[in-house]
Amino acid sequence: MLQQTQASRVVPAFERFVARFPTVLSLAQASRPEVIRAWAGLGYNRRAVALHGAAIAIEGEHGGRVPRTVDALRTLPGVGPYTASAVASIAFGAPVPALDVNVRRVVARVVDGRDPRDLGAADLAAAADAFLDREDPGAWNQALMDLGRELCRPAPRCDACPLRPRCRFRAAGPRSRAPVRRQSPFEGSARQVRGRIVAILRERRSADLATLVGAAGASAPRVVAAIDGLRRDGIVERGGRGFRLHG
Ligand code: SF4
Repeated sequence: MLQQTQASRVVPAFERFVARFPTVLSLAQASRPEVIRAWAGLGYNRRAVALHGAAIAIEGEHGGRVPRTVDALRTLPGVGPYTASAVASIAFGAPVPALDVNVRRVVARVVDGRDPRDLGAADLAAAADAFLDREDPGAWNQALMDLGRELCRPAPRCDACPLRPRCRFRAAGPRSRAPVRRQSPFEGSARQVRGRIVAILRERRSADLATLVGAAGASAPRVVAAIDGLRRDGIVERGGRGFRLHG
């Protein structure tokens, strides 16, 4: 829920979602349109579909218990290497690094004195593994996530950083700032068109193309392309007056 969505927006939506589906079983037993409707305000409806699929897999294949190992977690829909490692370490204490973009930056800088883009994936994984606190890997991973977000930013705030005494990047002295990559604007984006289509279909059982074009505020070809993407992602299907939420 938090991926590319601000925590302040996620909190009330998360609480509503968990009140609506308090157990894995209740989520697994819901229909896909019910889950997509409950996802309103949480962005990226693909994640709702994946979370629903994961709940079904946990009920069907894991006896209703979230699996504890990275390998088993990776078999769940929507769970990639980062999410599997984060859940395994934070929820179950598995000694694995959870390499999100912030942790990659901290590890590469402290251990190797470089930015992560200058380090191969295998070297970065080895550095993260060597750096990991095996006594409390969950707290360690969360600490590095916070440190990367608050201090070890693309333009680092080394003077306030607790890792300063052991950081090779800091020891190498000032260097030119890495250009900061900015996310493309949401306004007018394909994401916005997709979001508007799903918002209409949350409110109605179905809608025809003309209605969706009007509601999306985009040209017909862009709306058709967005619908094609939503159909590929299992969020929308043909039916009713034209299109409806899948399931
Ligand atoms: S000392 Fe600077 S470069 Fe090193 S981890 Fe801290 S903020 Fe990042």
